[in-house]
Amino acid sequence: MQATTSRIPQFLLNTTEPIQDLLETASLYLHIPFCHTRCHYCDFNTYAGILPLREPYVRALLTEIELAGAKARYADGRKRRSRTIFFGGGTPSLLSIEQMTRLLDACYAAFDVDANAEITMEANPGTLDEGQLAGLRKAGINRLSMGAQSFDAQLLQTLGRIHTPEEITQAVHSARAAGFTSINIDFMFGLPGQSMQQWQDTLEQALALHPEHFSLYSLIVEEGTPFFTWVNEGTLTPGDEDLCADMYEYADDYLSKAGYYNYEISNWSLPGHHSRHNLTYWQNLPYIGMGAGASSFFNDQRYTIERDPATYMKRLKAREIPLIESEVEVVNKEQAMSETSFLGLRTAMGIHLPTFEQRFGEPFSQFVGDRLHTVNDAGLLEFEDGWLRLSTRGRLLGNEVFVRLLPD
Ligand code: SF4
Repeated sequence: MQATTSRIPQFLLNTTEPIQDLLETASLYLHIPFCHTRCHYCDFNTYAGILPLREPYVRALLTEIELAGAKARYADGRKRRSRTIFFGGGTPSLLSIEQMTRLLDACYAAFDVDANAEITMEANPGTLDEGQLAGLRKAGINRLSMGAQSFDAQLLQTLGRIHTPEEITQAVHSARAAGFTSINIDFMFGLPGQSMQQWQDTLEQALALHPEHFSLYSLIVEEGTPFFTWVNEGTLTPGDEDLCADMYEYADDYLSKAGYYNYEISNWSLPGHHSRHNLTYWQNLPYIGMGAGASSFFNDQRYTIERDPATYMKRLKAREIPLIESEVEVVNKEQAMSETSFLGLRTAMGIHLPTFEQRFGEPFSQFVGDRLHTVNDAGLLEFEDGWLRLSTRGRLLGNEVFVRLLPD
């Protein structure tokens, strides 16, 4: 394999903690399934019209946190260490400061949360005001992830979003005034009727807000959404694939020039502001998901929580963690090795080979065998200081490389 000159910033290459220590931790995800209205493209487990259930839902979630924390304790009875907490949804910013504070307190009571833990809350621009943001910052939220999607008013309407472009700017200014120093903004491209010019304008206005992090997603028309119906009826035309690829390339170039680093396919950050919580997923490290429909990877098992909020609350009233029994899957070593490789190769850093070997007691080269040479000879891989990653050509081929490299 060829060694290459690094194109990865040092801050992403640091392997600060031994893998065996990281495997003993659990990141926490809390799902808040409420939205004012359903966006036309959304297939998340989230519901409009049930806002009065917020308080009983929070009470159920408090019980689940307590039960999950007790179950996750180490063999000697100590609380499980947690490095990150992520409030996702849905729209977590529809909860009150008091409700968020109770949920955070419950996490601290049930888990051993690091003093410098990254604590993220997803928020929608139309649901935020300065007083609320100041309260959330005070409660301990230190990273905000905003679903902005576009600066084009017409496209926001097409998507079914409730906020205006002005509210995005206002929300970021308010978050800064409230003391947030780590802000992510989500945008979408490849939208129906979206021109390259509209995408460039959105990026320009977004950059003017100087967020520390961007997540950029191409629209996927999911079954069961209004978009899916409209596309099938012929009343909505999805974005052109070639244009979509051009938009991605433009964004990468534009953000790179502005100092952002594309550390995962859909994610760009300024130095030190990559999402530690999402890296948990991409490094295939343990996490515990709580709340309706949340999924977990913990104790070599993947499992999902009951999706329907009413059933979720009912089962927690009986102090039972509401698992969907048919969706509990034991992850064997072979599977874990495959998943760790696949997820790692999606990141810019790739797989840290010494860490892989420490984790599984087997070198990566032994795991993939001769395939490694075949794929490397095709120029699809790069090797640098113990890291193995996709080459530029490998990234273009994406899934095909995984199929050729990883055992079935
Ligand atoms: S705000 Fe987010 S979670 Fe809620 S419906 Fe829209 S896309 Fe889905």
